[in-house]
Formats: sequence, C-alpha cells, structure tokens
Amino acid sequence: MKTIGILGGMSWVSSLHYYKWLNELAQEQLGPVNESKILLNSLDWAKVKSFQAADDWNGASAYLSSEAQKLEQMGAGLILIGTNTMHKVAKDIEAATSIPLIHIADATADAISAAGLNSIALLGTSFTMEQEFYKKRIEDRGITVIVPEQEDRDRVNSIIFDELCQNIITEPSKAEYIRICNDMLARGAQGIILGCTEITCLIGQDDFTAPIFDTTRIHVEAAFKAALEDN
Ligand code: GLU
Repeated sequence: MKTIGILGGMSWVSSLHYYKWLNELAQEQLGPVNESKILLNSLDWAKVKSFQAADDWNGASAYLSSEAQKLEQMGAGLILIGTNTMHKVAKDIEAATSIPLIHIADATADAISAAGLNSIALLGTSFTMEQEFYKKRIEDRGITVIVPEQEDRDRVNSIIFDELCQNIITEPSKAEYIRICNDMLARGAQGIILGCTEITCLIGQDDFTAPIFDTTRIHVEAAFKAALEDN
C-alpha cells in the first residue's frame, strides 16, 4: 500500500475524519489488524488563513507546495489536500511534486456522474462557492452547479470559519444549513455537495432525501483506492 500524504490542519477538525476513515477502511477491506499508511502534515492554520484574508494565493501556494514536497521526501506515494478551498493552489502543488494528487473536486464529480445527476447544489467557503477553480471542474463534466444566494453564502461561510473549523457544532447552524440546502433543491438541484471538509460534522444524508456528496468521505475513499493500486 502506498503511503498517503495529507496536507492537513485546514482545519484539524476535518483532519480527524481523514485519519479515522482511512484507518477504518483499511480494517474493513484488508482485515482487522490493518491500518492505512499515512503521513499527516498538519499545517499552520493561522498562516493559511492570513494568506486567504490577504488574497495572497502565491504565498499560499509557496507554503503548501513546500509542505507537500516534505511529504514526498518522507515517502508519500500520493498527496491529498484536506480542504476543498485550498485546491485553489492544487495545480502548483502538482507542479512542485512528482507524486499523484487526488483532487477532491474530480473525485466528487466522478461520484455525481456515477449517480447520474446533472444539477447539483454546492455548499462551501465563499472561495469555493464563488470562484471558478472548484465549480468549473464540476461544470466541465456537464453538471450545473447551484450555489446559495449572496446572504446565505455569507452565512454558510461564517459558520464554517467561526464555528465548524473550531469544532463548534450547534443546532441553529444545522437548521440554517438545512434551510439553505432545501432552498437550492427547490431551485432545481438534484443533490448536494458538502464542499467543505468540516460540513460532515453538521449535516449528512440522514437530514435529506436527496443524495448528499460528502467531499471528505469521497476524498478518503478515492485516496484509499489509489493507495492500493499497483500493490
Ligand atoms: N476545510 C474547509 C474546506 O474544505 C475550509 C477551510 C479552508 O479554508 O481551507 O474548504
């Protein structure tokens, strides 16, 4: 099995899920004494957030790329960026390393296509909901992406940074997310992308009849599969 290198700590709340689920998959699929081989490079979240706030994507790219190179030097056979948002610099990380990067949006688009959907709601940070780096990768597969209205996008974004990334999970925020998702379903979405790796802590398939695409889980499953290839 290849060693899975994770750029984590963005935030630590979602890195917990990556670590847990990768190991649970190994136990389920390879047997009870098995674990995944993981290098978790938990980054300086304050530093990442300051790059985001300053719109300094070159700075963010240089930081994440050099941390990805450390993972490669330590023996990682593939790389995960454990956040949807920081896939904004995914191309730079791919250029700075020579191991495969498992792209969270591609894995998610694969799952949506396999489910036969052509219109999908997207929840995530404002960067993810509003910029092209993420949405376009889904749209390029012929899938229409629906995002919340401006006021709701702001609400979704602030709940991510002010609550979920600090492991604060509340019923009012859950109700807000469900309301916003139902609004997008009423606007024609056939399913919902949980396009931020902490949203899995707040809502999930049990809250909806429409299919839910949990990017954290999808990313973990794609990475585990890739790690077993060429074994
Ligand atoms: N983990 C989040 C995401 O998936 C947000 C944190 C970040 O800005 O990287 O987008």
